[in-house]
Parts: sequence; C-alpha cells; structure tokens
Amino acid sequence: MADVVESFNCAKCGAPLKIKSGEAVVVCDYCGSANNLREDKFYIVRHSWLPNKLSKDEIIKRAREWMSGGMIMPPGMEKSEITKAELVYLPLWVFKTKNKTDYSGLFLREGEKKVSGTEQMDFYWKILGRRQGDFPVQEYKVPLSAKVPFSIEEAMEGTMLNGEMNEDEAKEQAKQEITEHMRSLLAEKVDKFETCETKTEFGEGEFLHVPIWFLEFVYGGKPYKLVIEGTNGEVVKGEIPASDFLGREMKIIMAIAAALILLVVCGFVAMTFLR
Ligand SMILES: [Zn+2]
Repeated sequence: MADVVESFNCAKCGAPLKIKSGEAVVVCDYCGSANNLREDKFYIVRHSWLPNKLSKDEIIKRAREWMSGGMIMPPGMEKSEITKAELVYLPLWVFKTKNKTDYSGLFLREGEKKVSGTEQMDFYWKILGRRQGDFPVQEYKVPLSAKVPFSIEEAMEGTMLNGEMNEDEAKEQAKQEITEHMRSLLAEKVDKFETCETKTEFGEGEFLHVPIWFLEFVYGGKPYKLVIEGTNGEVVKGEIPASDFLGREMKIIMAIAAALILLVVCGFVAMTFLR
C-alpha cells in the first residue's frame, strides 16, 4: 500500500481527507461523500453503492456450488481448499450516454456496394475506477435494483477502494471504448470503413461502489481465482482448471462399457436361473 501523500479537506463536511498516491476520487471517512479531485480542488459527485448481502460462509457455499457445476468441472473440484475469500468494494464510474456515429464505407459481401449512414444508440457505460485489476467490468451486470445512496455508517465490512480515475479521465476512456464498440456493431453493415466518427454526449456521472468477493482455491496443487458478486452471489469470473479431457472421456466410456457387460451378465444369469 502506498503512503498517505497529502491531506485535503472534504468539500462537503470539511473533515480531513486521507489521500493515497494515485487516488483521484476519495471517500470521506466522516460523511461518506465522494470527493472528485480536479487539480487541487474537490467537488462532490453523486455516490451510490450496492451493499454486500452475503456472509463469507454463504459466499463459500456459492463457490462450492459453482465448483460442482457438472461436466465442465474437473473431478473432485468441489473439494478444493478455499484459501482466500475477501470482500472488496470496487469503484465504478457509470455514465448515461447518447451516441451518434456517422459512417461510410464499402459492403463487400454481395459484390461491392457503397454504404453510409448514421447510427444512434444510448448506453449506460461503466468504467472501473482503478488502473489495475483484471475485473471484467463490461461483462459485469450491475444488479441495479440493489443500488442505494452510499452510507459510510453501513460500510463497515470489507475493503473500500477509492477511485484512481477522476470523472474526466473516466469519461475520456468511456468515449474511446464507445467509439470502438459502435464500430464493432457497425461491422454488420460495413466491411471496409472509409469514415467512422462517433460523438458521445454524457449525462450526469455517478460514482458507484459494488461488492465483489475475491476468492482463491487450490486444485491439483495449483492456485486458481474466483470472483463472486456480493448482492446476488453470481459468479462474475472463475478460473476452471484444465482437465485431462481424453482421460475423463475414456473413464466415462469404460464405465458405460462395464455397465453394459454387467447388464448382459445379469441377463444371462437371470435367464439361466429363471427358466
Ligand atoms: Zn466529509
């Protein structure tokens, strides 16, 4: 962990804020306001959260259910030792966006055809407020029904991470990602782009803390990671150990063959003795 580098006061209540190196959105320990750092001033951003709803035991139970999830899991996985289960509140920036893309180019699938047009789409776009971490933020479905205004009094368990990306930086990243996303959607209509320009209008940004459990387990002597959502217990991401598929299939085939042989033998025995 980096040291506290500077001290500023909360824009809402005036209490001293502790800022670690690299942090740009800092939650006040006293009133819970999210201070967005811009140059050397702060302003308060709308701050919500999804309070964690599951205990550590419930999360571990959920992990075991996932591990015993049928054919794709290697044998005996549900008995893996779980070596870590930690709750972290991750910061997200969520923006309501209106997007308009002007494009032109060529459609090549039925001969060569010139195409052009305008595509408009609205998205809620999410940006992880941390610079590092392999959390799959776009795949993660925020269970928005669990969202409530942030309350520092209730945020007692787990580790609350401040944002390392301020609102402007997050918007800049969102703009780039949306531009790429629009282009990938338009790949249905355009094979070769001549122009493709996206304009994004942002609504009010929201700073959101989401409860994420980071687990580690050991299978076959190797460590693996599992990420579970803390409001509904959904697996966000889980590493599945590579298993010896050929070996497993052979075992299944042999088991079926053994069962058939047993059936035939039983049939013979029954026919012999029941005559
Ligand atoms: Zn404050």
